Amino acid sequence: MNLSSDIKYIKGIGPRRSSLLAKLEIHTIEDLLTFFPKTYQDRTKIIKIKNILFNQHCCIFGKIINVYEKSIAKNLSVFCVDIDDTTAVLSAKFFRKVNPYSKFDIFSGIRSSFIVGKQAYLYGICEIKFGQRQMSIEDYEVLDNEFDKTELFNRLLPIYDLTAGITQKTLLSIIKKTVNEASVFYPDISNIDIIKSTTNIMPIQQAIRSLHFPKTLQEAEAARQSFALQEFLMLQIILLMAKKKNRKNTKIQKYTIKKTLLTPFKNQLSFDFTKAQKKVINEIFSDMTSNTVMNRMLMGDVGSGKTVVALSAILLAIENGYQAAIIVPTEILAEQHFLTFKNILKNLNINIDLVTSSTLKTKKQREEILANISEGKTNIIIGTHSVMEDRIKFKNISLVIIDEQHRFGVMQKVSALSKGATPDVLMMTATPIPRGLAMTIYGEMSISVIDELPPNRTAIETFCLTENVAYQSAIKEISNGGQVYIVYPLIDESDKVELKSAVKEAEILSQTVFKNNRVALLHGKMKPKEKNEIMISFKNKEFDVLISTTVIEVGIDVPNATIIIIQHADRYGLATLHQLRGRVGRGKKKSYCLLISDVKSKTSQQRLKIMTKTTDGFKIASEDLEMRGPGEFLGTKQHGFPEFKAGDIVKDIKLIELAKNTANKIIDEDPKLSLEKNLAIKYFLNNKYLNIFKVVQVG
Ligand code: ADP
Ligand code: MG
Repeated sequence: MNLSSDIKYIKGIGPRRSSLLAKLEIHTIEDLLTFFPKTYQDRTKIIKIKNILFNQHCCIFGKIINVYEKSIAKNLSVFCVDIDDTTAVLSAKFFRKVNPYSKFDIFSGIRSSFIVGKQAYLYGICEIKFGQRQMSIEDYEVLDNEFDKTELFNRLLPIYDLTAGITQKTLLSIIKKTVNEASVFYPDISNIDIIKSTTNIMPIQQAIRSLHFPKTLQEAEAARQSFALQEFLMLQIILLMAKKKNRKNTKIQKYTIKKTLLTPFKNQLSFDFTKAQKKVINEIFSDMTSNTVMNRMLMGDVGSGKTVVALSAILLAIENGYQAAIIVPTEILAEQHFLTFKNILKNLNINIDLVTSSTLKTKKQREEILANISEGKTNIIIGTHSVMEDRIKFKNISLVIIDEQHRFGVMQKVSALSKGATPDVLMMTATPIPRGLAMTIYGEMSISVIDELPPNRTAIETFCLTENVAYQSAIKEISNGGQVYIVYPLIDESDKVELKSAVKEAEILSQTVFKNNRVALLHGKMKPKEKNEIMISFKNKEFDVLISTTVIEVGIDVPNATIIIIQHADRYGLATLHQLRGRVGRGKKKSYCLLISDVKSKTSQQRLKIMTKTTDGFKIASEDLEMRGPGEFLGTKQHGFPEFKAGDIVKDIKLIELAKNTANKIIDEDPKLSLEKNLAIKYFLNNKYLNIFKVVQVG
């Protein structure tokens, strides 16, 4: 047995459980050992019934003296248990919904456990109903005889994510067995001398145990930190190794700023670059003309004009005879850039090819595109991740730009680009991250910020209002020549959540409110070609209203669209709302973002209020971070951070610094990780983290 062994080697896990555990992404012994509890419940104190505090969770223990069932409504039944702990008797209840058409016996498991005379532990909330104390039971354990030991009570109980068919108790016992049998196989980085001498991190064997069976919350926290240090250290090591590799690759390409393309390009723009755009273009050019490969992140709020900055870098590459690629997260965006670029560059004799799964679909077109690229006829390659496929061979690529990088994940690998090339890499994101945080996480990447919007932009006004008012404003705007987005969180109707869906609402709205207007529908499940066609017709003003899901979130640029109505606005993170809002206010006309939400909770209203007060992406990001906490804020994959299982990039800044320093020392001493003492690191590198933290490494 080793860490990567199948979980079926653990006694008690047969094929059935193994397929249930697979639903929780548990496949190997390691997955089980490191299946982090999502929280811990304090069940250390067992309260005497006479001392019970009301309206809060508590645990009690006593003898079952009576059980009975009753139906309290057509679709609600209750199973009652009277418990006596010698200080008083408590009536405890299981409430269950009943389907009147089903013969399923909802209480069968409970009935067979709760036998009068046996002892039971109960966990739940106590309250007074009709003058009587009662408990609504959330968890229980019935002891068959009084010598039995409790598994779930008198302790800090780890609470795991579950799936139907697996209970906390089952999972707990499986994990206990696994920890006992297999935790010794888990490599320990804590005893590497450099780490041992600088930290007092909990050794990993103990950390595994303390993660699942802590005596105190402090112990659980120390265990978490041990895993977190491992994650941060491995990320830093991977970043360092990538950097070393880059440094060795002094780059092949040499650029001089000839301006044969740059000047005509600039002259034909209908605007001047902003100061901020000039500044970052200078930073990028100075990277590109240096001897080391560029590795730069460009952060600029929605609408700050990153595309023309990217184009400037691309033209520098092309006027020096090289190819350049720009990679975006969606086909719609690729298509849009393709049209924008074609339009701006139309007099410059530059060949642009669009590389997406659609354009590569038919043999004839594919062969033509592939040949153009490999022969060097194509100057600019615009595309989705298809650009990174092996079959795309470049003649001489020297620059790769990744747009809307946060949608890819920070460490997206850009490796498959032709062998031997050493392209400069520029990443662009509209999701602002506190700078200090970014520096810590992105490690050695340089950062540029566009900190102003182009002039003459009228600020977008944002309101929270009712659907009717929003629709009336939309109709008025359309009659003045404007266009409107309406965004829904769902594509299709779902019976799980009562949310309005794009498909259904498009049908309804086009026959009612907007029956005199031209309504189009766009969502992520449509074929790419269809999506593109709709987007282009919307841009060409062939539709007044575009009903959509968040597929329009990134990058879409339709300057004539002036109202965006966001349905169920409470369902989105502020960063997403900000991105969505950025779809309007892209032209000269005043624009509006209308947020619709029927959730009345204070926090959700407070969050939406932030949207109405500011249009500054940095401010919104930091307020969001503050309100939701880093876990949720960063957990949304909105920000392109690597996902840490144990680590928390806001809370653990000190740990990250420690990891960074330690990684430096380790790699200085042992650049190839060939020393025996670094075996654990090498193991994690090859077997785990290279897959998790995909480093942007070009060449
Ligand atoms: P983003 O940073 O969100 O990618 P875009 O590059 O799409 O923003 O730019 C948004 C809009 O602003 C585009 O229509 C673009 O032509 C325009 N724009 C860019 N730079 C300037 C500028 N310096 N002055 C005026 N308009 C600009
Ligand atoms: Mg953009």
